[in-house]
Amino acid sequence: MDDRLFRTAMGKFATGVTVITTEVDGEVHGMTANAFMSVSLQPKLVVISISEKANMLYLIKESNKFSVNILSAEQQELSQLFAGQLKENRKVAFKNLNGLPVIEDAVAQITCEVTNTHVEGDHTLFIGKVTDIEVADKDPLIFFNGRYRSLTVETIPQP
Ligand code: FAD
Repeated sequence: MDDRLFRTAMGKFATGVTVITTEVDGEVHGMTANAFMSVSLQPKLVVISISEKANMLYLIKESNKFSVNILSAEQQELSQLFAGQLKENRKVAFKNLNGLPVIEDAVAQITCEVTNTHVEGDHTLFIGKVTDIEVADKDPLIFFNGRYRSLTVETIPQP
């Protein structure tokens, strides 16, 4: 099967955008990711999927923990920065939540400890046990069809 067809089909699934962060030897590393989902309520588990080519893979294996920062509509530049799409280097100020670096002004910040990993093809799935959460009342950044979007006014009547 054609790689482009697979990518195009996956891009039809509208998602939010997260920046995964972790810290090794006092150095914070961030990476943009949309392969994130909730797995279990009891216990509270999430999963992220990290490419074998990503530096983040080796850093999470080392730290055994990560945070998921769900970006707000105003944070598209941070998504581009942590996806390596901006030419210039930027200094990013991180906050601390439960001993992990988190992105300021994100819609939600979720800290996790790795409880399991599964290597599947060219990605590794990290199962994270949620250790802390902070949530803000903001609109999220959306990714669809390879482009950033924002939520528009609700048009579908809700019961
Ligand atoms: P690097 O390439 O080493 O770093 C990424 C960038 O972040 C670099 O420019 C670096 O300078 C900057 N950076 C890192 N830490 C800091 C810091 N502390 N301060 C300032 N800048 C910093 N890949 C996946 O594996 N899984 C996914 O789910 C996924 N989803 C994606 C969703 C979207 C919308 C996009 C745009 C990309 C996605 N990617 C995903 C691709 C991934 O974000 C890039 O391939 C990324 O560059 C790989 O990360 P890395 O760990 O190798 O980081």
